[in-house]
Amino acid sequence: MTKVLYPGSFDPLTKGHMNIIKQAYELFDEVIIAVLQNPLKTSGLLTIEERMEIIKNIYQKTNNVKVITANGAAVDIALLYECKAIIRGLRSLSDYDYEVKLQQINKEISNNKVNTICLFADKEYQFVSSSMVKEILNLNKDISKYVDPIVKEKMLIKKRS
Ligand code: ADP
Repeated sequence: MTKVLYPGSFDPLTKGHMNIIKQAYELFDEVIIAVLQNPLKTSGLLTIEERMEIIKNIYQKTNNVKVITANGAAVDIALLYECKAIIRGLRSLSDYDYEVKLQQINKEISNNKVNTICLFADKEYQFVSSSMVKEILNLNKDISKYVDPIVKEKMLIKKRS
């Protein structure tokens, strides 16, 4: 059984993330989505609990997708959950620059136990990002093209409150 970990902030989950998750659960036996607090991203809109609730809701009927949250390094979480690899999605050259360094560090600190697998979103989702979704919402424009209806509803409620 091959388990993989897909870590990220998912603030909020976008159709870009969902495209990567679908590719991953079709390739591997189980995908564990780890919702993590990124200390470099301070402008969180949804709480970790809200992000998890949304993702659980969306994947409740997909048996080989699980959602967790944890503190610490993605490699340690991967080892804890017996994941063979970390999944990352690649969008642009700037993603590549960052990811290539991250995978090297992750290999080193896990003594080569955790590898990284990069997947590419289909072209219509390639440039979708959580920050773009938040900006569009702030401009009071429709985000339906970029997120699941469950995400849209939650974001609108959150914006009003
Ligand atoms: P973001 O970078 O948008 O804040 P996350 O930290 O939640 O998102 O990202 C988790 C992972 O998903 C990262 O590897 C990121 O590059 C990838 N990802 C996010 N959006 C897309 C997309 N549209 N296409 C491919 N990969 C993506």
